Amino acid sequence: MPSSVQIVLIGAPGSGKGTQARLLSQHYGIPQISTGELLRQAVQNRLPLGLEAQAAMDQGLLVSDTIVMGIIRDRLAQPDTRSGFLLDGFPRNLEQAQALAKLLETLDRPLTVTILFRVDSEYLIQRLSGRLTCPQCGAVYNRYTSPPRFDDQCDNCGTLLRHRSDDNEETIINRLRVYEAQTEPLISFYQSLGLLAEINADGAIPAIFRQIRRAINEHRHRTARPQKGGAPGRRAKAPPVARSGRRTPTAGKSSPRNSPASKKTSRKSKKTRPR
Ligand code: ADP
Ligand code: ZN
Repeated sequence: MPSSVQIVLIGAPGSGKGTQARLLSQHYGIPQISTGELLRQAVQNRLPLGLEAQAAMDQGLLVSDTIVMGIIRDRLAQPDTRSGFLLDGFPRNLEQAQALAKLLETLDRPLTVTILFRVDSEYLIQRLSGRLTCPQCGAVYNRYTSPPRFDDQCDNCGTLLRHRSDDNEETIINRLRVYEAQTEPLISFYQSLGLLAEINADGAIPAIFRQIRRAINEHRHRTARPQKGGAPGRRAKAPPVARSGRRTPTAGKSSPRNSPASKKTSRKSKKTRPR
């Protein structure tokens, strides 16, 4: 079994990628590389590229491929990526996916698997417009479905929670459109490479986490023992993962808080354990 894992997460804004990315990063001991987060940091630190990116981000449009590829190239050159990495929010269009493939080839680090988060889009706007995140520990809350115990304060660390400026209805609608038009084509791109694993992301956080780990293990195994005649990782049959379309009215509501640190808190500790 190869010792490193290289994972890409694809899903609409609000599909829960960030939550699962934190859990996976902890579980596999690999860094979570979120281009959205790196761009927000660049904006906050008033870096030139941040200033250039901000207008696109505020409108819910994609930041230029040049900026994003620069960020990714620098980040993947860091030594902490040696045991693998998890890309969250990147690639987001075909150009980025192709550039990534080239980059990983020169680095000799093939992708292990691309995880696709299937969700019922009906709930995305509510999930996003109510979203609150902790800038300190990364915990995510929702004003409507999973509020913090005390007003706008993190349950884990007490830090004042942040509402992202691009989590307003108008920008959210643009982000969802951009996802459909530019990011969804990546599904067939990765499918044709035998790298896609679909996950039903409408359920509870631990159940989704389990599905993802299963998919990763299955693909790791495959990369380790390439079948003769086929590219490593090529699958004969789609995996037996549930499709979206099913309604789960309690999705989000029933989901336990999703910070890894919340394992330590008493109340929901059993539910939130990512195993
Ligand atoms: P979400 O997935 O919840 O929409 P992210 O935090 O991933 O949010 O991204 C926020 C914004 O950052 C995007 O709307 C976009 O403007 C920009 N961005 C993030 N990643 C990329 C990328 N790979 N390519 C272009 N723009 C990006
Ligand atoms: Zn916190």
